[in-house]
Amino acid sequence: IKTIVLNNRPEGKPTLSNFEFISEEKDLNINDGEILLEAAYVSVDPYLRGRMSDAKSYVPPFELNKPVQSGVVAKVIASKNDTFTEGEYVSGMLDWKTKQVSTGEGLLKVDSSKAPLSTYLGILGMTGLTAYLGLTQIGKPVAGETIVVSGAAGAVGSVVGQIAKLLGLNVVGIAGTDEKIELLKNKFGFDAGINYNTSKDIAADIKKAAPNGVDIYFDNVGGPISDAVLFNINRFARIIICGAISVYNSTETPKSISVQPFLVKNSALMQGFIVSNYAEKFPEAMKQLATWLAEDKLTYSETIVEGFDNIPKAFIDLFEGKNKGKMIVKI
Ligand code: NDP
Repeated sequence: IKTIVLNNRPEGKPTLSNFEFISEEKDLNINDGEILLEAAYVSVDPYLRGRMSDAKSYVPPFELNKPVQSGVVAKVIASKNDTFTEGEYVSGMLDWKTKQVSTGEGLLKVDSSKAPLSTYLGILGMTGLTAYLGLTQIGKPVAGETIVVSGAAGAVGSVVGQIAKLLGLNVVGIAGTDEKIELLKNKFGFDAGINYNTSKDIAADIKKAAPNGVDIYFDNVGGPISDAVLFNINRFARIIICGAISVYNSTETPKSISVQPFLVKNSALMQGFIVSNYAEKFPEAMKQLATWLAEDKLTYSETIVEGFDNIPKAFIDLFEGKNKGKMIVKI
């Protein structure tokens, strides 16, 4: 059995030395009510960076020398629990371990005959729900409006853009490479894309791509990219603060943003959210995402990294933009 624990807390960008691998030769026994799980796919997500710090947040920090946890799809390889049968697959928050014992609490059964198992960590999992619920609940999109999405070629952003398109919006994406911009336009149906690494003036490029102004901004990254979008907002714009990956590794005290006057004069709404705020809407949202996927109205990209030992590197690579769509490790 292999386990990955948090060895020490990252300062700035996470490194491999923040993690430790533990290998044990032992058989895991299960008691009545328990199941034995074998990890199949492990999700790595930018928000895990927050749990690696000991700062107060909406979920407790990871404890040092304890396994890191994230979304995992696992196979039931033995069961003494009436709800689960050997051979079934489940998804839920589980330890970074090749095998583990669970009571089944908090686990959902997933069906590989309906969709590939990895999708339950992406478009049919937490990131798909985040895209759909953030956009619909806070963005309140109206056909004909213009939305800008940052982190647009990632797991959340690529789904936000496609849903916005389905709802009749003009969609502009911001991402870090030309290859990703091509993907936005050719695979995900965005109307325009801006490469923030090569743009000489992001605010001017947004103005060009969104000549009628920005009604909705779905923000995954924060920082200067977001300032450039906010310079272009319309009256009654909605700004969905989903994430701020550009500052997750910052060691400086956060600076005040200077775009507040744009919010005031446009009567704009800026709201942060955590997807679990909308837990009661998960079944309905999941049904909608699965329907669109089955109807080929939604598509997705995944960057699948192979091997349990590569989990920490895959996580670190999120901060280098190495992924297109959802970053997942196949065990
Ligand atoms: P992504 O698949 O979008 O992966 C991260 C991407 O962020 C990279 O591919 C990279 O793309 C981009 N990125 C990395 N560093 C920077 C930087 N310095 N500046 C700009 N972009 C950068 O991850 P997710 O879709 O899983 O998550 C997207 C965001 O949503 C994150 O901020 C995450 O924390 C947040 N989130 C929030 C949730 C909530 O409940 N509020 C739930 C899930 C996610 P590129 O090449 O374009 O730079």
